[in-house]
Amino acid sequence: MAGGNHLIDLIRAAITAPKRRFLETPGGDSLSYGELLDLSGRYARVLAGLGVQPGDRVAVQAEKSVPALVLYLAVVRAGGVFLPLNPAYTAAEMEYFLADAGPRVLICDPARKAALSAATERAGVGHVETLDGQGKGSWADLAAAEAGCDFADRPRAAADLAALLYTSGTTGRPKGAMLSHENLASNAQTLVAAWRFTGADVLLHALPIFHTHGLFVATNVTLFSGASLLYLPRFEVGPVLESLPRATVMMGVPTYYSRLLAADGFTAALCAGMRLFISGSAPLSAELHRAFEARTGHAILERYGMSETNMNTSNPYDGERRPGTVGPPLAGVEVRITDLESGAPVAPGAVGMIELRGPNVFSGYWRKPDSTDEAFSDDGFFITGDMGRIDEDGYVAIVGREKDLIISGGLNVYPAEVEGEIDRIPGVAESAVIGVPHDDYGEAVVAVVALDGDAEMSAADIQGVLSGSLAGFKRPKDVFFVEALPRNAMGKVEKAGLRERYRRAFAE
Ligand code: AMP
Repeated sequence: MAGGNHLIDLIRAAITAPKRRFLETPGGDSLSYGELLDLSGRYARVLAGLGVQPGDRVAVQAEKSVPALVLYLAVVRAGGVFLPLNPAYTAAEMEYFLADAGPRVLICDPARKAALSAATERAGVGHVETLDGQGKGSWADLAAAEAGCDFADRPRAAADLAALLYTSGTTGRPKGAMLSHENLASNAQTLVAAWRFTGADVLLHALPIFHTHGLFVATNVTLFSGASLLYLPRFEVGPVLESLPRATVMMGVPTYYSRLLAADGFTAALCAGMRLFISGSAPLSAELHRAFEARTGHAILERYGMSETNMNTSNPYDGERRPGTVGPPLAGVEVRITDLESGAPVAPGAVGMIELRGPNVFSGYWRKPDSTDEAFSDDGFFITGDMGRIDEDGYVAIVGREKDLIISGGLNVYPAEVEGEIDRIPGVAESAVIGVPHDDYGEAVVAVVALDGDAEMSAADIQGVLSGSLAGFKRPKDVFFVEALPRNAMGKVEKAGLRERYRRAFAE
């Protein structure tokens, strides 16, 4: 479409009824699709007035609010590259992101502005505006003072950048994944079809909006189907229970679902209007999957994605949603499993590196050509860093990140397999299996386990049960008990922290 704005044109085409609701909050605020276009147009005019040119980055480090979400569309309409940042990042972390990305504009919480001033100055950020969790601040004032809301969307081609997402950064410093208009649009279209989204859907949105899950998966699927968002500021059990009867779909990380199950008020009756629960961003244990289905009658649909690639695989809408797997590749996505050393495809069913190719896959890391080169194979597959296997019928199972692989006595131990066995033990709430230094084995397998509130168990009890199900080299040499596993905002277990904590478990 010559001269068009690839992503926005597709969203506009999907907006068939401007009066239809795009979003409502539990507090009663709502925004129709027409109002969304007006507000994002108003914001785009302000951005253009601040000098934002096509290709300029606009960084947003703000609490979740309606304006913070509308900014995503506004930046893309203005031709810019949207750069969302976790509000939890410290001034020191922000200094790195700002220097690396070089945004023209930063929109941050008013309470942060002073602490960030040195960093914004050093990074040459042209304008710093403020926006708080209630949608107030200098950004809101600028928008209110703007005379109109008509905006001619800036031309952007399919391959042009729409967003920069800094990845969790568990190896080295975070890198900005460059996502094009086509990456986002193609994945949204694929997911709408795969998950049967329609204008009748109401998506319960309790996820953060600085991450691909809440920002792109949830929002783009809604925009591309004309559905609406039930937009909660964060995940809290009470408000989610209150909102469920009005929703048809929920997207969450596994911890949301385990926390719902822990609530007595979470019943099948409450889910009567729901058609789909979707989980991702971290592994959903087969136990949790089964317990959820037993309580609600709903088999959670687990999918697999990452900042760099949007969504890659999904359990089917119709057909078996197989616990412990992330389902077959989505339409248009190629998945292959390769040998860690040779890079050659492994035998069917064998474990190896998950590699991906498709219109969803990012074009590289921002200003890091070497990292980009390393991340892609010669034939253009992205080397994910996740290890997994593909069953005969095409279902992908993830066995863990490559860096979490344990090599004990020269043998590979895949944490997910051991965690799966531990999680099956009655009384175990959750577990994480890590490798720690060991004089004899190189690395020793260690399990960190959280028990259900009323359960009592010793390390020997757990080791005893596992002796019937796992080969000796996979069994934990020790088991440590914790109240709960440390997790980040996306529900991922912080294994690096656990390895550090138990590093000396076998030291003399
Ligand atoms: P992020 O870039 O923060 O979205 O993190 C992406 C990573 O999360 C992936 O590379 C996986 O390691 C992990 N991940 C995402 N979805 C799943 C899933 N359904 N099961 C297991 N791990 C997942």
